[in-house]
Amino acid sequence: MPGHSHLFVPGPTTLPDRILRAMHRASEDHRSSAFPEFVKPLLTDLARLFRTERGEVALFHASGTGGWEIALTNTLAPGAQLLLPCAGQFAVLWGESARKLGYQVETFDDLAWGEAPPVDRIAGRLAEDSAHVIAAVLVVHNETSTGVTADLARVRAAMNRTGHPALLMIDGVSSIGSLEYRHDDWGVDVAITGSQKGLMLPAGLALLALSQKALARASAGGSPRAYFDLAAMLTANRAGYFPYTPSIPMLYGLRESLDMLLAEGLDAVSQRHRRLADGVRSAVQGWGLSRCCLDDHATSDTVTTILVPGSLDARRVIARAFTRYDLALGGGLGPLAGRAFRIGHLGDLNEGMLLGALALVEMCLIEEGMPLTAGSGVAAAERRWLEVPG
Ligand code: PLP
Repeated sequence: MPGHSHLFVPGPTTLPDRILRAMHRASEDHRSSAFPEFVKPLLTDLARLFRTERGEVALFHASGTGGWEIALTNTLAPGAQLLLPCAGQFAVLWGESARKLGYQVETFDDLAWGEAPPVDRIAGRLAEDSAHVIAAVLVVHNETSTGVTADLARVRAAMNRTGHPALLMIDGVSSIGSLEYRHDDWGVDVAITGSQKGLMLPAGLALLALSQKALARASAGGSPRAYFDLAAMLTANRAGYFPYTPSIPMLYGLRESLDMLLAEGLDAVSQRHRRLADGVRSAVQGWGLSRCCLDDHATSDTVTTILVPGSLDARRVIARAFTRYDLALGGGLGPLAGRAFRIGHLGDLNEGMLLGALALVEMCLIEEGMPLTAGSGVAAAERRWLEVPG
């Protein structure tokens, strides 16, 4: 199909030309005396992305799923008990990973998909646990399947009120680099992200930030791990190296990505995502459709999960978008298969790109039989953005 394609899945996101050019590098010696001059500032700026000065950051070669495993095995004793509110696919998958690694996971199974993690219930469960058996609370910051963002500052405040020593571990795969994230201020112990979403890179890096408390747990033992050993990584990183061969193109891509995000300013980045998301939400309202997110205060600024009427199979909308218009949309995951589609609105994105995608979604909905007036969603997004000039 002529023209470029439209990638509107909630990750991987569009690779900016600047990043593609930065990654077009010859190989170099990662054990040379010059390499630390490149690596050390890279890690300093990665810490700025997580907004941590008190903690440490580490980057591994893995996707976000590997990041889960790195976080768990480095900080938890074998068989540790975890609390993980599950109201979406990525929480479910993180729980499955943890169980396969031998941890015991409690999930609040009665949560509805689209609910935010229930802060009061987390606090209540910790308060009950007077023996302090629960080693960590796991929270998906931005649940990419449902389009729900957790309030991490509230989770931490509620945990503090109980005086429980559990670690707070968060999955920031579809939030960090796009949404506001404050590792130190919010008292998060372990944060995980991946390279292919807000950072606008290909998949391949798992990036973590750890508090001193989490680092102390890691030094105290953790669980068996080899390739993903944090201690080996931190020792090598402090000297400006990696314990094994790093991907040179990915590191240069990360350099460019951090330069772009820090030059725009992290606050400006999250405000841009809020503005773009507001336009998408207006379009959804214009189409008369509802979002999966059940609480407007928890609505995600990086992904919107849109429910379709029972008469329509969302898979047909997604298939039409892809084959007819070269537009990639996210599918409904788990119980949302066929009932929902997702628009990713994160990364290297502006109003013009998003208007194109919204117009194509609208055409697909009409072509699949929804009785909509052409322009109903697109005009609502435009009006929203015109009301509040960026
Ligand atoms: N966590 C969240 C919130 C995600 O959205 C994803 C992927 O979309 C993952 C974890 C898994 O990451 P990966 O596919 O990079 O392994």
